[in-house]
Amino acid sequence: MRVRIDPEACQGHGRCYSLAPEVFGADDDGFGTVLVDPVLPSGEGPARLAGANCPEQAISIEA
Ligand code: SF4
Repeated sequence: MRVRIDPEACQGHGRCYSLAPEVFGADDDGFGTVLVDPVLPSGEGPARLAGANCPEQAISIEA
């Protein structure tokens, strides 16, 4: 699995790195960043949860 954050859509709410800290981090301004590519199997569930909870729908997931 690979995940991507659309930097134009991300508003820095931080849900991704709160829900899936093993997959997402924050840059200096609090915007989401992707830490792992590809996502490890143990991070797939949290990554999907984060994707479903991003208020801006900025996270895209590829199988
Ligand atoms: S939850 Fe969405 S809007 Fe918030 S930091 Fe993560 S990608 Fe950006």
